Amino acid sequence: MQLETVIGLEIHFQLNTKSKMFCGCANVGPDALPNSATCPICLGHPGTLPVPNQQALHMGTRFALALGFTIPLVTKFDRKHYAYPDLPKGYQISQFDQPIGTHGYLLIDVAGKEQRVEFNRVHLEEDAAKNIHAPDGRILVDYNRAGTPLLELVTEPCLTTPAEAKVLLQELQRISRYLGISLADMEEGHMRCDANISLRPIPEVGLKLPFEPNTTGFFPKTEIKNLNSFRHVERALAYEIKRQTELWNTGTPPAKEATHGWDPQRGVTVEQRVKEGSADYRYFAEPDIPPITLEAAYVQGMAKDIVELPRAKRVRFMAQYNIPAADAQLLTDTPDTANWFEDMMSELQAWFNDRSGSDEVPEEEWTKQNSKIVQQAATWVTTRLFGILAEVGRPGEVSHVSPGHFAELMTMLAERRVNLTTGQVVLKRMVESGESPEDIVREGDLTQVTDASAIVGIVDRVLQENAEIVAEVKAGKVAKAQFLVGQVMKLSKGQADPGIVRELLGNKLGIQL
Ligand code: ADP
Ligand code: ZN
Ligand code: MG
Repeated sequence: MQLETVIGLEIHFQLNTKSKMFCGCANVGPDALPNSATCPICLGHPGTLPVPNQQALHMGTRFALALGFTIPLVTKFDRKHYAYPDLPKGYQISQFDQPIGTHGYLLIDVAGKEQRVEFNRVHLEEDAAKNIHAPDGRILVDYNRAGTPLLELVTEPCLTTPAEAKVLLQELQRISRYLGISLADMEEGHMRCDANISLRPIPEVGLKLPFEPNTTGFFPKTEIKNLNSFRHVERALAYEIKRQTELWNTGTPPAKEATHGWDPQRGVTVEQRVKEGSADYRYFAEPDIPPITLEAAYVQGMAKDIVELPRAKRVRFMAQYNIPAADAQLLTDTPDTANWFEDMMSELQAWFNDRSGSDEVPEEEWTKQNSKIVQQAATWVTTRLFGILAEVGRPGEVSHVSPGHFAELMTMLAERRVNLTTGQVVLKRMVESGESPEDIVREGDLTQVTDASAIVGIVDRVLQENAEIVAEVKAGKVAKAQFLVGQVMKLSKGQADPGIVRELLGNKLGIQL
């Protein structure tokens, strides 16, 4: 019997709004003294009235639009009942049948293959408080988190591997950070995932099933609750595939939906309870919050304002800078990194335009003409700069180096005024001291570097003293440039590297020598 894996994810994002979902308390969670950010509304006192947070509605709608959701023009809140010490009202205000978004999708790339993930819905709700298990056995409750705005995103059961689930979560993390709606750190609980998984046999002649699937062709799912890292999601799903495969192979597949927890120490999932159906929650419309009507113009305006999303940026970077997918992925991981890289590229172009005295070449053309330098700069960021930043305990903080200084170093490398080894040393000092590469080279005992920059001085002098020949070369008599090479060699008393001389002259004259 061949089995197919069916996975669907429910993902929560804590929205980084100023205030909570239905009251004016600061949305500070664990950053403030326990129970200091509370009020009668988020503590669930009788007679208080919730007021929906407009910023949360904005953020949720923006996220929904970015994921291609249909935005119904009327949305409403509902009460979802369950009893737990971290839920002071005895119900959570959530959205049941009129969420802020229905039917969305996202394209992701899994192992080089494009895949479309379908979303069922996205809705707003409030977070519960946080239970703290004290060493003396008491359970303490911090209500600072109670009422924090949450956005819940629900996929269709359309994923088929743990790797897909992980890639999807990573992409959603990036998108929520690009949109600025959540810090989306899984370990910190700003982003949480419940993973649902079932198996089903691929139909074949004579196959006997222990029981029939539901009307949509699926078998009862197991929900793994509160996975708080990408790795846990991947491992827990892989474990469930193994467990459920064995159950199918022994003729006893899971007959009931169940809720499991993940035990990372033992690497197993543990059954917690048989799952509640939606009827158990006794949903009904929140009588204290009237349905909200959005104006079409408001939604359209917001749709226009959505920033370039990570995947689009990746694709653009690959084409524009002619770099491989892996580099594009690293360079667009956060909007800060991507913006820094683009600033650096403009600076790099400016350096070259300055040096060659050429009129501004359009960026696109310049990048094409200087593809080697551009690719070298990209690789220097993703390998050397990222490496050094990680070493000094500032992983990924590219903004620690000014884009201008980095571009200057790339220019010096391209002009062979520093070689690769020295370049690495200079970059390290740039990270440590914030100085410009030129200053570091001048002050430092970086002898190879000063030797190389001595050649630049000679090249400049030869170009100045031979203006007529330079003009001829620029007019197309490229062979005349050999005279200039000879002049530089002579002035350097034969010590200059002819390769470097040719390259420097070529760069200055805008020709290949
Ligand atoms: P529930 O009402 O039990 O919460 P939903 O229909 O809302 O179930 O689905 C919750 C999540 O579980 C969704 O992400 C959905 O894609 C996924 N899911 C639903 N049925 C299955 C199944 N049989 N196997 C795997 N995932 C499923
Ligand atoms: Zn409050
Ligand atoms: Mg559900």
